[in-house]
Amino acid sequence: MSRTVYVNGSYLPEESATVSIFDRGFLMADGVYEVTSVLGGKILDFPGHAARLQRSLTELEMASPVTMDELLEIHRELVRLNDLDEGMIYLQVTRGNPGDRDFAFPDPATTPSTLVLFTQSKPGLADNPLAKKGIKVISIEDIRWGRRDIKTVQLLYPSMGKMMAKKAGCDDAWMVEDGFVTEGTSNNVYIVKNGRIITRKLSNEILHGITRAAVLRFAAEAQMEVEERSFTIEEARAADEAFFTSASAFVMPVVEIDGTALGNGTPGPVSARLREIYLDESLKAAI
Ligand code: PMP
Repeated sequence: MSRTVYVNGSYLPEESATVSIFDRGFLMADGVYEVTSVLGGKILDFPGHAARLQRSLTELEMASPVTMDELLEIHRELVRLNDLDEGMIYLQVTRGNPGDRDFAFPDPATTPSTLVLFTQSKPGLADNPLAKKGIKVISIEDIRWGRRDIKTVQLLYPSMGKMMAKKAGCDDAWMVEDGFVTEGTSNNVYIVKNGRIITRKLSNEILHGITRAAVLRFAAEAQMEVEERSFTIEEARAADEAFFTSASAFVMPVVEIDGTALGNGTPGPVSARLREIYLDESLKAAI
C-alpha cells in the first residue's frame, strides 16, 4: 500500500513526492536527519530528537524550515494518515535547491531548506527476536569525518561497514579509531564488566544518541554503575556483556565480537534489564 509522505508543506502519495536534482542533499549530502520510533501509535522521545535536529541545523548554519511544534504536528499527522502503529518516522532537512551546483552555501532567504518526512511500518519492532538472541559484530577502522556529533546524511561509510559485517556473517560493525571503539555503524556502544556499564563519553567523535541519554539516565535511576570512558576492542572481547542503543533498536545485546563470544554467548542480564526499563519508561512518556 502506498504511503502518504510529507514534502515541503504537502502530504502526498509517495509516488508523487519529488525533490529537485539540484537539491544539495542529493548533490552534496548537505543535509541532516532524525529517526524516531513509534510504538502503539505514539512517538518516543520527540523532544530529544527535536533538540538534536535543532543542534545539527545550527552547527551547519542551516535554517529550520518549520518550528519544533509544527514538526510534532507533522509527525502526528503522518502517524494518523498512515495508520502507523509500530515503526519509525524518518525526517530529513537539506540546504535546498539553489537551481544549480555550487560549493558555496546559497542564501537561505532565496533558497529555503527542503523538508521531507516518511513513515516506515515495522510491526513487532519492540518484540524483535534478535533482542533475545543477541547480535554479532566485527570491528573495522573508523575513517569517517571529524564531526560525527552532527547527524548528517553522509552515510556511505556506515553502509559499507554494514556490508563488511554482512559479508563476515555478522550483523553490524563497531568502528575503532586510535585503538578505541567509537560507535557502531548506526548506534552507540557499551560493554559491561563486573556489573559496571562502560561507554565512550560524548565528543565530536560520536553521535550524541538520544537513546544513549535516556538509557544512561534510567541506569543511574536504577542505581547501576556507569563509567563514561573509551575502551578497546580487546577490552570489549573480554567483557561480561555488551550492547548497543539506537532509536529504532532500543537496547540490543551483542553476544560476539570479532568471533569471540561474550560471557556464555547469550544476552546478559544488564542489557536485558536496560531494554525492559527503556521500553517501559519510553512508552510511558511517548506522545
Ligand atoms: N551513532 C550513530 C552513528 C547513529 O547513526 C545512531 C542512530 N542514528 C546512533 C549513534 C544512535 O542515536 P539515537 O539513539 O539517537 O538513535
